[in-house]
Amino acid sequence: MNISTLESWIGKKQPNGDKKPVVIAGPCSAETEDQLLTTCKALTDSGIDILRAGIWKPRTRPNSFEGVGEIGLKWFKEVKKEVGLPTATEVANAQHVELALKHEVDILWIGARSTVNPFTVQEIADALRGVDIPVIVKNPINPDLSLWLGGIERIAGAGITKLAALHRGFSSFEKTKYRNIPMWQIAIELKSLLPELPIFCDPSHIGGKRDLILPLAQRAMDLNYDGLMIETHIDPDNAWSDASQQVTPLRLHEILKELQIKRPTTENQEFNTQLDDLRSKIDGIDREILEILAARMSLVEKIGDYKKTNKITVFQVDRWTKVFNTRPEWGEKMNLDKDFTAQLFKLIHDESIKIQASR
Ligand code: PEP
Ligand code: MN
Repeated sequence: MNISTLESWIGKKQPNGDKKPVVIAGPCSAETEDQLLTTCKALTDSGIDILRAGIWKPRTRPNSFEGVGEIGLKWFKEVKKEVGLPTATEVANAQHVELALKHEVDILWIGARSTVNPFTVQEIADALRGVDIPVIVKNPINPDLSLWLGGIERIAGAGITKLAALHRGFSSFEKTKYRNIPMWQIAIELKSLLPELPIFCDPSHIGGKRDLILPLAQRAMDLNYDGLMIETHIDPDNAWSDASQQVTPLRLHEILKELQIKRPTTENQEFNTQLDDLRSKIDGIDREILEILAARMSLVEKIGDYKKTNKITVFQVDRWTKVFNTRPEWGEKMNLDKDFTAQLFKLIHDESIKIQASR
């Protein structure tokens, strides 16, 4: 896949190798000409790189605000002239692409609800053939790495080289503190498959709440993401969409100042030696963990055979309730997060059932 650098989008180099994130900010939706202009103007002091605004809004339920449509593109073009920053918006079909190009939007993104649908992504890709414009592909709403990768491949297949992925979390039936569960591992796997592909994080849609933006953005920086997309509104409480997750331009400025930007590597010999030493200890412990797990599973095989000979079912609910209740408590006493231990034992349980059922 032919992928251009993020610098080529905005025509500027990062100073002395420092990894300042490329920041996309602006309202969830363009609402009125005045709201768009005042928000974007107030953003110029925050050191952001790209303005965002939703023009067509995919809403979960009907009868909510579905975006202002083409008129918003006219406002956005004026705002761009006034503020002097490139603009980005979401496109969900060929007509959106055509209108966004007509009104000189600089960067397009494909929303999470579109990435799930290969027909939609292909329609957008076909409309983009022969156009040189950066395209950001948000992850699909469901945690499916292939679907995300497939979306990126379809856009690349249309000849787009200024490509990036955007991680906005995954929806689930389970209620968590996040609006969309981050599942960082999926984004990390994407990055390992396509190391050249710039990756953005959208802490606004992951968190769904203002207070979660800073910690999520910090996590993205710690994981070496290239950029952030943060929803910003001049009057967040009265926003027409996603009110609880938007921040004022002033708050965005503070968030960006509070972020600690770390370097992925260093030439410092002492640090590198120390890191290698700690890593080799971790390698040793990981091997021990696996040896212990293998010993556990061989006991599981024995139990499986024993149950089979005595015609007893593989699964006894009482036993597993006890395991699930005790292990997170044991773990907590050892300073391990309760949810982490619970998840770990869920995996171990699934494997134990599988082993016993195959005896
Ligand atoms: C958005 O960025 O406004 C948006 C609708 O995001 P997503 O596609 O991630 O839900
Ligand atoms: Mn939004």
